Amino acid sequence: MSTVDTADLAMIEEAAKRFALTEIRPHLEAWEEAGEFPRDLYRKLAGMGWLGLGYPEELGGTPAPWAAKIALSRTLSHYTGSGGVMAGAFSHSIGLPPILNHGSEELKRRVIPDVLAGAKISALGITEPCCGSDVSGLRTTARREGDHYVVDGEKVFITSGMRADWITAAVRTDPHNKGAGGISMLAIPGHAPGLSRAPLKKMGWLCSDTAQLRFDGVQVPVENLIGEEGKGFRIIMTNFNGERVSMAAMALGMSECCYDEALAWARERKTFGTSLVNHQAIRHKLVDMRMRIESTRAWLTSVSDRADAGQTDAQWVAEVCMLKNHATQAMQFCADQAVQILGGMGFMRGAASERVYREVKVAMIGGGAEEIMKELASRQLGI
Ligand SMILES: Cc1cc2nc3c(=O)[nH]c(=O)nc-3n(C[C@H](O)[C@H](O)[C@H](O)COP(=O)(O)OP(=O)(O)OC[C@H]3O[C@@H](n4cnc5c(N)ncnc54)[C@H](O)[C@@H]3O)c2cc1C
Repeated sequence: MSTVDTADLAMIEEAAKRFALTEIRPHLEAWEEAGEFPRDLYRKLAGMGWLGLGYPEELGGTPAPWAAKIALSRTLSHYTGSGGVMAGAFSHSIGLPPILNHGSEELKRRVIPDVLAGAKISALGITEPCCGSDVSGLRTTARREGDHYVVDGEKVFITSGMRADWITAAVRTDPHNKGAGGISMLAIPGHAPGLSRAPLKKMGWLCSDTAQLRFDGVQVPVENLIGEEGKGFRIIMTNFNGERVSMAAMALGMSECCYDEALAWARERKTFGTSLVNHQAIRHKLVDMRMRIESTRAWLTSVSDRADAGQTDAQWVAEVCMLKNHATQAMQFCADQAVQILGGMGFMRGAASERVYREVKVAMIGGGAEEIMKELASRQLGI
């Protein structure tokens, strides 16, 4: 495949649906029980050309518009109904862009092709025990010693943290600057001596690996600096936009997954001598879900079309923040209504809506919590 244009979107959606229903859905409950999905899944996704969607050909990718990446994310989410798979299998979508957009040519070539081939795993390490929303307060330090940085500190809640071969980490390189200006980005090898990792147990995303990382005198070559020293905060903030759009796409897919399950159940299940769907209250719940799905879809398309046209101004950034909130609220509503329609069955493990119900909160917190999204949107809109 060379480049993907919007005419290929239907093909991507069809292939993603088939892949989700054959390669993921049948194994999902076992992966959730095991607390991980097989590493081989990265190779399979790479084989479909999906890990490299939107990346330059010379790095092993396939140039593609935002619309294509969104179609993929939304469709895989819709038919897997698993945020755990999506977050874990696509952790490079937040780990690699800082390197792609700001790393040296040598660093790009050393890191990116292996990740896009599914041979290596990339993670993003920003959050620390002290600070998540308040990124500018982070405390992990990297002091320069000759041709190395020496990294000390901790990161928490890091997706793919246990398995990552590369951690794109935010570190404080200027100990005298306690704010945003003292922060830089480093590509830290996941197997560097002095780095220890511990898995974390969670409410949802059970099959994704989430870790606490500890850096004790970890030596990182200066060539692994991403962009300029002290300019990391801006890189982090720009990277968040892509993450938030893709989280909105995932939330939309999850909402559709709940809708499908609820509709199928409502048609099949009989109460008081007729199908559930023949009760007006149930039909109205389904329409309420559909309303939120359609509004999210329309807004996501508008945001993605403007990104493809290069119109990523302050209004766009504000809309990305509001869209992330809207999409995750739609997901919360749809999961809640679907579980209600499924009745007791909706409370049982194995129902997609039960899983999505447990995954809603991380969608509303991760990648910028709801309150922070509103604050950022209000500033961009000049309110
Ligand atoms: C499963 C999972 C996976 C994750 N994966 C990653 C990852 O791969 N990489 C990574 O770097 N991070 C990751 N995170 C971290 C995630 O991005 C943070 O949890 C998130 O940014 C919130 O930070 P916090 O948890 O420190 O909450 P805090 O910042 O302590 O905030 C707590 C609550 O207070 C609210 N709040 C904070 N400040 C304000 C304010 N000024 N006004 C009003 N309300 C406020 C927040 O919105 C939130 O609701 C992950 C988290 C989870 C749960």
